[in-house]
Amino acid sequence: MTIAGAAIEAIVAHAREAAPAECCGLLLGRLEQIVEAARTRNIAARPTRFEIDPQDHIDRRRDARVRGLDVVGFYHSHPASPPVPSETDRSEAAYPNHLYVIVGLASEPPEVRLFFFDGRNFREEPFVTSG
Ligand SMILES: [Zn+2]
Repeated sequence: MTIAGAAIEAIVAHAREAAPAECCGLLLGRLEQIVEAARTRNIAARPTRFEIDPQDHIDRRRDARVRGLDVVGFYHSHPASPPVPSETDRSEAAYPNHLYVIVGLASEPPEVRLFFFDGRNFREEPFVTSG
């Protein structure tokens, strides 16, 4: 897996802006390659949750398709905890065979981790940062 450096920078910037609340968005790309991060509003009532705004989800998905990109996954932040799937993340994950990026702001620099959700479990995936 590769993740574009610009996408990682965008995710970290979004996480910092949203803190102490979680941020969320879509991962756009193609198989094996995340090329872009697209912000969405977080409509979760509690700051320690994330729920992607449904209209943003539809709009970003359409924009991506027009540009030949697929929605390959989702990102969100953990403002004060390690970037590993929480119990809530596990119980609310709704997209099998998608990638999940989590950024943790508890360390400096922030830690970014990538997971593949197979419908039951999250499996950490190694990645390299490109361009
Ligand atoms: Zn989480």
